[in-house]
Amino acid sequence: MGFSPGHPAYRGRFAPSPTGPMHFGSLIAALASCLEARVRNGEWLVRMEDVDHSRCQSGADSQILNALEAFGFAWDGEVLRQTKRNAHYQAALDQLKAKGVVFPCVCTRKELSDSVMALDGGQRYPGTCRHGLPEGKAARLWRLAVTDESIACDDAIQGRLAQNLARDVGDFVLLRADGLFAYQLAVVVDDAGQGITDIVRGADLLASTPRQIYLQRCLGLPTPAYAHLPMVVNAAGEKLSKQTRATPIDHAQPVPALIAALTLLGQAPPADLAGSSIADIWVWAIQHWKLSQVPHQMRLMAPDYSRYS
Ligand code: GLU
Repeated sequence: MGFSPGHPAYRGRFAPSPTGPMHFGSLIAALASCLEARVRNGEWLVRMEDVDHSRCQSGADSQILNALEAFGFAWDGEVLRQTKRNAHYQAALDQLKAKGVVFPCVCTRKELSDSVMALDGGQRYPGTCRHGLPEGKAARLWRLAVTDESIACDDAIQGRLAQNLARDVGDFVLLRADGLFAYQLAVVVDDAGQGITDIVRGADLLASTPRQIYLQRCLGLPTPAYAHLPMVVNAAGEKLSKQTRATPIDHAQPVPALIAALTLLGQAPPADLAGSSIADIWVWAIQHWKLSQVPHQMRLMAPDYSRYS
C-alpha cells in the first residue's frame, strides 16, 4: 500500500473505532469526510481503528459497515483493520528507537497522578525516565520524547492551532504497558500507509493533531490537510459515544438522519429533500456540499432527527 502512479490527488478516510454501533456523531464524520472526498474527485477509504481491541465490541465492525451501506455510503478499496497492522507499528517504533527519540518508561499511572494536567485531561509526563530507567527496573512502555517548540496546524474549519508539546502534553506513549500500540502511533502510520491526503474528523481529535504532526515529522511522513468538524454532544454537553449511551442510528430510517446530518453540517438541505430517496439525497449532497459552510464551533448539540421524518 502507499502512493502509486495514478494515485488521486485527494484521498480521505473514515476511521471509526468499533466500540459500538454508529451514532449520529459518527454519521457526521462519515458523511462530511465522504462528501468532501467526492466533491474533490478523490477516494474515500474506511479503516477500522481496532488497535485497542480491549475496547472493541464484538460485531461492532460489521454493524458499522452495514450502517454505512444502509445509508448509501460506498467506500473505495478494502477496509483496513488495525489489528492486522502490528508489524507496521513495530517498524515505526523501531525507526524511532534507531533515531534515539523514544525511551522506555517504568512509570505507572498512579506514580504520575501528582503531575501537572496535560491538555487532553491526562497527566503531563514529568520526564522521570527520559534519561534512563531506575536501577533494576524493566521497561513497561515506550514514550516519544517531545521538543520545546510550537507545532502548528491550519485547520480548514477550526483555524490555526498551535501547541508546545513539551509544555501542553509531555512525552507521550507509543507502546502501552499492556503491549498495545497507542492510537497516536497507529493513526499516523496508517494515514501515511493508506496515502491519506486529507483528514476530516471530529473536533474531539483536534488536540491530538499536533502530536500526530510531530510524529509524522519524526518518521519522515507527509502531513495531511486537516478539517475538524464540530463534535456532536448530547443535552448534558457530553460527546455522543457508547459511554454516553448515544442512540445508534436506525438502519431502517436513513433519510431523516441524513437530512439532520446535512443540516447540522450547515448545508441547508431544502425541505422537500426529506421526501426523497437515499440516492437522491446523495446526488443533492454531492452537488451542494461545501466544507466552508460547516459551522466553526468545536461542539454542536445533537438534533432530534425524528422530526425530519
Ligand atoms: N478512531 C477514532 C474515533 O473513532 C477516529 C480517529 C481519527 O479519525 O483520526 O474516534
